[in-house]
Amino acid sequence: MTLSDTIDSTQVLKSLADSAPKAYIGGKWVEAEDGSTLVTRDPGTGDAIAEVPAMGTLDVDRAVLAAQEAFDHSGWATLSPQERGVLLHRFADRIEREKSILAQIESLDAGKVLSQAESDVQNLVDTLRYFIEISLHVPNRTPLAVSGYEAATVRTPWGPCGFIIPWNFPLLLIGWNIAPALAAGNTVVIKPAEDTSLSALYLAKLSQEAGIPAGVFNVVTGNGASAGAALAAHPGLKRLAFTGSTEVGRNVAAVCGKNLVPAKLELGGKGAAVVFDDVDIEATAEKLVGAITFHSGQVCCDATRWLVHKPIYDRFVDCCVDRLRQTKIGYQLDEATQMGPVVSSKQKERILGYLQKAVSTGAEAVLKGGEASVDGKNGFYVDPALLAGTLDNVAAQEEIFGPVAFLAPFTDEAQAIAMANETVYGLANSVWTTDLTRAQRVAQQMIAGNSWINAHNLFPHGVPYGGVNASGMGGGVLSVETFLEYQRSCSIVRPL
Ligand code: NAD
Repeated sequence: MTLSDTIDSTQVLKSLADSAPKAYIGGKWVEAEDGSTLVTRDPGTGDAIAEVPAMGTLDVDRAVLAAQEAFDHSGWATLSPQERGVLLHRFADRIEREKSILAQIESLDAGKVLSQAESDVQNLVDTLRYFIEISLHVPNRTPLAVSGYEAATVRTPWGPCGFIIPWNFPLLLIGWNIAPALAAGNTVVIKPAEDTSLSALYLAKLSQEAGIPAGVFNVVTGNGASAGAALAAHPGLKRLAFTGSTEVGRNVAAVCGKNLVPAKLELGGKGAAVVFDDVDIEATAEKLVGAITFHSGQVCCDATRWLVHKPIYDRFVDCCVDRLRQTKIGYQLDEATQMGPVVSSKQKERILGYLQKAVSTGAEAVLKGGEASVDGKNGFYVDPALLAGTLDNVAAQEEIFGPVAFLAPFTDEAQAIAMANETVYGLANSVWTTDLTRAQRVAQQMIAGNSWINAHNLFPHGVPYGGVNASGMGGGVLSVETFLEYQRSCSIVRPL
């Protein structure tokens, strides 16, 4: 029996239809002004599962206006951190209570393996609770000892903040982004990705049940070029956070710059894993294979370039090939599945296109990858692939966003660092060695926002996570600094 036999998908969809058929603005469930809708599909079957409003400029205007009204008049912004904390804990409690249904919605809509969707929901709950706790400890007035003056800084929330979210971690990234903003007393307008809006809408229902005042939490659905562009360009926002591709991020930054709306950008990546010859080859291969197949490689901070010390290169590659061949590809709701579908046919075609282009420009296909089939399912499945060659190959330079890793050997530490830094991106790298002094040295010299040692993909709350160079700007997420960004500081001075 598979998990999908035990999950009543009709029930999940019915519960969506009953509660969140529309977008959520100012505490009301609303259609797009012009009535347009877009279809969202189950990536594991290709079937349509729901229709959501395809919103545009007028709808985004309504949402930002509702967020401003709520900021000015609902009392949310002037609650004490303790009072806001009570409501936000209630919100987190509701999410935790409905973890199973939220995870099923996320799994159906995004193609995520169910257990991974469940851990994303738990992460959202933990992120809310982490930022509630921070809000209780950041003083809103700090006296300054300056001779001849009475001086202090006071901290207050900004107002309406916009959030544009990608499809790979819808709920988890909503949490990372909005939790500090809400805990700091702001109001939010969220634009989920067009392929994965359903969990954000269900979250809106839970916010309503938790008693978050109308207009504090708003969700506008729709395409990037319409709803996304309208939100990014809205002059009524006080801050905008965008998570998505570098290409779109550049445009978002430009338009925010014009309006002088501070933009926080978390963008693409092309991470390296530097593997030295003193590692346990089996264990390291297992972890890197686990990382590249996790959510079918649709992870911005994945290690997609595996740089391997020459003495162990061949043994390491063989080990990875064996493990990748054993990966169980299947429907995301089946219990035995290790790797589910990719999010859309567009994403599948993108991955297949990169594989073809890489090989035609000189890369060796160590493990071919390509289209995969899963019995009885007409979804968007691909096999994992391993490529090898020189780092100027397109597959070693551009973000593919699929289960594809590029291998290259190195001879010494200096060369490994230089190779790791041969990229426009700067999101996350890892170094694998039993020599921890060397690990620290290499970790510091790889240019990125994050360097992990003997692991890949670590996000503890309290450790800033974010990219540099083409991977982003704006200080990252998940730390006390993120909370501080969501309050403005005003210095108050009086001569004595
Ligand atoms: P995308 O840039 O196509 O879309 C992201 C979001 O932006 C979506 O909501 C989309 O509707 C919206 N959008 C699209 N065009 C827009 C426009 N012109 N103006 C405003 N908004 C617009 O990215 P994607 O394909 O959804 O996500 C994958 C990308 O996200 C990858 O590059 C990945 O590396 C990146 N990502 C980065 C992080 C991080 O933390 N650095 C996390 C997850 C994903």
